[in-house]
Amino acid sequence: MTKTIIESFKIKSVEPIKMTSRNQREEIIKTAHYNPFLIRAEDVLIDLLTDSGTSAMSSEQWAAMMRGDESYAGAQSFFRFESVVKEIFGFKHIIPTHQGRAAEKILFSIIGGKGKTIISNTHFDTTRANIEFTGAEAVDLVVPEGKIPSAIHPFKGNIDLQKLEETIKRIGPENIPLVMLTVTNNSGGGQPVSMANIHKAKGICERHNIPLFIDACRFAENAYFIKLREEGYANKKVYDIAREMFSYVDGCTMSAKKDGLANIGGFLALNNEEWATAARNLLILTEGFATYGGLAGRDLDAIAVGLREVLEEDYLKYRIRSITYFGEKLTAIGVPIFQPPGGHAIYIDAKAMLPHIPVEQYPGQALVAELFIEGGIRAVEIGSVMFGKKDQQTGELVPAQMELVRLALPRRVYTQSHVDYCVEIIENIWNRRNSIRGLKIIKEPPFLRHFTAHFEPVK
Ligand SMILES: *Cc1c(COP(=O)(O)O)cnc(C)c1O
Repeated sequence: MTKTIIESFKIKSVEPIKMTSRNQREEIIKTAHYNPFLIRAEDVLIDLLTDSGTSAMSSEQWAAMMRGDESYAGAQSFFRFESVVKEIFGFKHIIPTHQGRAAEKILFSIIGGKGKTIISNTHFDTTRANIEFTGAEAVDLVVPEGKIPSAIHPFKGNIDLQKLEETIKRIGPENIPLVMLTVTNNSGGGQPVSMANIHKAKGICERHNIPLFIDACRFAENAYFIKLREEGYANKKVYDIAREMFSYVDGCTMSAKKDGLANIGGFLALNNEEWATAARNLLILTEGFATYGGLAGRDLDAIAVGLREVLEEDYLKYRIRSITYFGEKLTAIGVPIFQPPGGHAIYIDAKAMLPHIPVEQYPGQALVAELFIEGGIRAVEIGSVMFGKKDQQTGELVPAQMELVRLALPRRVYTQSHVDYCVEIIENIWNRRNSIRGLKIIKEPPFLRHFTAHFEPVK
C-alpha cells in the first residue's frame, strides 16, 4: 500500500486561474462590502465558497449530456434519471427540481404552516428558511458533541434521540408533519449520521406516526463515513450502505449540485402518494412539467451518471482523504478546526482563533475577509451572520451556537498543491491573527442575509 492517495482521475479540460496582488484583493473585497458572495468569481484564486454545483463533470457525464432528450413531456432523459434515483434511493415517486431548495419549497408548502414544527439534526439554511417562510418552526436537535468543535466523535451529525422523543411528546406528534436528518450535517461541520441513528430515529418517528425524511445532499460521503467508522460496515459496498440508509426513511430532498456531481439539479423523492400528487401540482406551477422540473433533459442525464460515479469507492477514498489531509495540516499548525474533518469541507472555529473579536463583530466574517486578502481564497461564514437573529425587543444580536468559517472543496476540481497553498495562506493569517479586526453589518435583507448583506470594518 502506498502512503499517497492520488486523485482518482486525470485532467482533460482546464480553466485558468487569474493571479491577483494583495493590493488588488484589498480593493476587491472592499468593493464587495466584505461579503464573499458579492465578489466576481474571476477575481478569486481558490474558490472554496461552496461545493454546490461546482463539481467537475466526468467525460461520461459530458457524453451523457449529448444524449439529453429535450422533449417537453416524457423525455428519455427523465426515465434514465428516474430509474437511477429509484434504484439507489428506493422511493416510489421521483420529482425532479432545479435544485435542492425547490424540493424543500414544494415539500414544506404542502406540509408546513403556522403551528407546525419540523425537527432535524440541523436544518440547512435554505431548509430552515423554507420552513419558516410557511410560518412553521424549525427545531435542531443534534447530539451535544455536535456543538463542540473540538469534541472527537465518529458521528457528530447524529440527532439526539432522547431529545427527539421528548420534543415530540412536548409539542405533540399531530403538530410535527415531518422529522428530517441532514446527511452529512452541512451546518454542523459536515459530520456524518450513523446508520444506527437513522434506524433508531425511524423507530421513534414510527411510534408517533411521523414520517422521517433525509436531506440527502451528501448521501455518498455519509455512506462512506459509515463504512469507515461504523461497526459491521467495513466490508460492505458504499452503494449498499446508501441503499440501506434510505430503506429506513419515507422520502428525501436532494440537491444534485452536491453528491449528484452535477452543476444544477435536485429532486424530491417520497413514498406518500397524496403528498406526491400535491407536489407534482406545485411543481407544474413553479418549476415545470413533472418529467423535467425546471431542468433540461441533458441535466437529468448528467445527474443520472453522476449519482453512480459518486458511489465509486476510489472516488470517495480520494474525496474524504483530501479533506482529512487539509484538516491534518491545519491542526498541525495549531489552527482550531471542527474535529474530526467532515466530508466536504474544513470548518475553522473562528471564535477560538480570534477570541479578541466579540460575536457582535462577526469573527467568522472577519476571517473570511482575511482569507481573501491574504491569498484570494473565497470561503463562507457559518455563524452569526448566517444564523444569528435579532432580538425582537432589544434589537440585539442573538448569536449562533458556533462561529465557523467553511472551506468547502468542490468535487474533482482542485489538486493537492492547491490545498497546500491554502494551508500556507491560513498559516500566514494564523501568525498575525491578533491584529485582525471585526466587522459590522451596514445593510441586510429580511431572509438569508448572508447572501447580500454589506459589512464594514469596525474602527
Ligand atoms: C445545498 C443544500 C441544500 C439546498 O440545495 P440547493 O441545491 O443549494 O438549493 C439543502 N440542504 C443541504 C444540507 C445543502 O447542503
